Amino acid sequence: MYEYAIVGKGMIGAAAARYLSQWSDAVVLIGPDEPQGDWSAHDGVFASHYDQGRITRCMDGSLAWALWATRSIAAYPEIEAQSGIRFHYRSGGVQVGFTTTDPNSNLNKAERNALYLGTAYEKYTSEAFRTLYPEVHFDDGLTVLHETGEAGYINPRALVAAQVKIAAAQGADVVRETVVALDTKGNGVALTTDGGQTIRAKQVLVAAGAWTEFLTGAKLDLLPMPRTIVLAQVDAAEAARLKRMPTIIWYEGVNNPDIEGVYILPPIEYPDGNTYIKLGGALHHVAVPQSATDLNQWFHGSGSSIEARALEQELRRVIPGLRTEAVHAKTCVVTNRVKGDVPLIEPIVAGKVMVATAGLGAAAKSSNEIGRLAALQLQRMKSE
Ligand SMILES: Cc1cc2nc3c(=O)[nH]c(=O)nc-3n(C[C@H](O)[C@H](O)[C@H](O)COP(=O)(O)OP(=O)(O)OC[C@H]3O[C@@H](n4cnc5c(N)ncnc54)[C@H](O)[C@@H]3O)c2cc1C
Repeated sequence: MYEYAIVGKGMIGAAAARYLSQWSDAVVLIGPDEPQGDWSAHDGVFASHYDQGRITRCMDGSLAWALWATRSIAAYPEIEAQSGIRFHYRSGGVQVGFTTTDPNSNLNKAERNALYLGTAYEKYTSEAFRTLYPEVHFDDGLTVLHETGEAGYINPRALVAAQVKIAAAQGADVVRETVVALDTKGNGVALTTDGGQTIRAKQVLVAAGAWTEFLTGAKLDLLPMPRTIVLAQVDAAEAARLKRMPTIIWYEGVNNPDIEGVYILPPIEYPDGNTYIKLGGALHHVAVPQSATDLNQWFHGSGSSIEARALEQELRRVIPGLRTEAVHAKTCVVTNRVKGDVPLIEPIVAGKVMVATAGLGAAAKSSNEIGRLAALQLQRMKSE
């Protein structure tokens, strides 16, 4: 019997597995690899990290999130060095919002937290920022916080691969299958996989992202929110023109009738050899999937045409004169909570099963620290 089983080979689960395998030599990490080829032909679960870019930044209006990001980013060099896999790119990043003296505004809280934590940044009016970075445009009268230092983006697939590689080197077994049932009766927990295996562990961490509630059947009040992202393909000349572009988060003052705002990444090369600018946001109104089948079906489609159209419109506003070769839409999901603005890390079966999920669309950059905290809590649950 394993001491620890982690269900979900995603961003949080892989990080937790790396830590748990430092502390125990009886760890198993269970989760499927990314489906290859046509997603509509894939019958099983998906994930929130099947992409090449996730914004990383320390500045955040929440001190907890700012701290988790700061600690995670501090661990990136060690993870890159131990795994030999690069995933962190320092492009800098901006957050744009209203100019106000309200101490509770998003940007003012983020700036205060940056001062507490020693985050490197500069502050500009949108007009002043335009003179420094004429390739991007924000409306007049806004404030731009430009985080320098370690801010930029990570490749989430590569970060997961790095965490899994180190966990395996530390002795963790990796089972590339999907868990279909958890049985907590008797001694420990029995996990049944779609490959027909039964894996037993004393303690289980379920980090199955948006599928966590559907898999465990526990009432967790999660909200899996379907999201559509846009990939705007650019040629080499356009990528070179935009090579100084920071990551962008702009919600306040966007005033789009369909979406709340946008985040945009600089041009990144994807596995198909093309270079894309990736962007996303959030529709004002979203239908929340009620079952794993609903959620899997969302990934079989091409997303919301309304969201894709609104995102492209905002992209062309932020990068005036953008030349694209093609524009594609793709599906994703973020896991929110009915109540709560931090991830959910808590026991659901006393002494046996914990969950770590609800990244709230912001956990990629901080997944190492969230996974570490989940691993610590699992270990603590054992000793109580
Ligand atoms: C479009 C988009 C953009 C985002 N942008 C950012 C960003 O810029 N910056 C940022 O910090 N965050 C961002 N996020 C959020 C970030 O990607 C998520 O918070 C993060 O991936 C959550 O990690 P997770 O481990 O909870 O879930 P996941 O990474 O989804 O991992 C869950 C894993 O569980 C597995 N699984 C599911 N069911 C089972 C089962 N039954 N058995 C075994 N395994 C199972 C899945 O295969 C998956 O690998 C974004 C998310 C989306 C969707």
